[in-house]
Amino acid sequence: MTVVGARPQFIKCAALSKELRTFFDEIIVHTGQHYDTELSGDFFLELQIPQPDFNLSSGQKSGIEQIADIMVKLNAVVQSEKPDCIVIFGDTNSTAAAAIVAVKNQIKLAHIEAGMREFDKTIPEESNKLIADILTDYYFCPTPAAVGWLKEMGITQHVFQTGDIMIDLMVRFSSKISNNTAILTRFKLIAQKYIFATCHRATNTENKNHLEQILKAFIQLDIPVVFPMHPRTMKATKAFRLDELINHKNIILCEPLGYFDTQSLIKNAAMVITDSGGVTKECYFYGVPGILIDKQTEWIETVAEGCNIQAGPHTKKILEAYHTHNIRKPSFKGNHILGNGSAARKIVLKLKELLN
Ligand code: UDP
Repeated sequence: MTVVGARPQFIKCAALSKELRTFFDEIIVHTGQHYDTELSGDFFLELQIPQPDFNLSSGQKSGIEQIADIMVKLNAVVQSEKPDCIVIFGDTNSTAAAAIVAVKNQIKLAHIEAGMREFDKTIPEESNKLIADILTDYYFCPTPAAVGWLKEMGITQHVFQTGDIMIDLMVRFSSKISNNTAILTRFKLIAQKYIFATCHRATNTENKNHLEQILKAFIQLDIPVVFPMHPRTMKATKAFRLDELINHKNIILCEPLGYFDTQSLIKNAAMVITDSGGVTKECYFYGVPGILIDKQTEWIETVAEGCNIQAGPHTKKILEAYHTHNIRKPSFKGNHILGNGSAARKIVLKLKELLN
């Protein structure tokens, strides 16, 4: 049973599901954590993910209420379907809730993207990851750092470094992504003459100063910034009365985009500014310089290798990074610390061995 609820999980599920179904019957449960079509529905169609078998409709709640609601509803599904294993991804409320349901029903739990750490329990994603990793049976780690962080917690059994599952999709769809240039035409963009930006982490959207600092950097850049805005960020800019900044002529504001349009915009950008974990990895894969506007990153290898610069939510640091980092690195494809596109296969083969 695969449990998904948020945009990055649909993308990871797309990578896993195809391989998983070679050996297993998969039940997909969508918790409904992301319920907007732009963050949810389109990805199933676009990435040909089988339609969810269950939808728990647990959106429009936040934090603890959402986790509780998912737990109650998922528990009922688990008790009727009796899966052999529950697979969770990453760090969302759906991840934490499903981990608790699995252990309470004594069902094996596999965590994909296990071991990632930001060392700050106040970050909502961090507490979700900690809950998941305390309860997990099988740890599928994307990076060497993740394996090391689990070791520091005393977790060394059933820990597998498989590479990152999002790389699988970029490899699988590489020619479709390369050919998908209509989105550049739609926004009248010239390749490598614009910046692609995303901002949605709670640490930035729930803090007026952080959000303002980030937007103030966007408007001072000397090339346009394409900014697909997450509904949470849109709500925050309205609540904090930052409309004037987002309506600035240097910002090309749009709704959240689909997978292929986003990949194409990242791949062709001069630079990317982001607080998204997924986009951080995508910059690295395409060899596009990135400026990270979250307080810290768990994808430390991408910074160590010089692809991404950690600026945090500070106008001055973002602008400094922009002016010093404007060199396109050679593509990392082929020799890649995040994997080579075979993570899903490795995970599924290991699960087959463990569950038999
Ligand atoms: N993404 C997308 N459309 C957008 C913005 C991001 O398809 O408008 C993709 C992005 O390329 C990456 C994934 O969504 O594959 C990352 O999800 P998100 O930023 O929501 O979460 P995070 O990775 O921070 O957990």
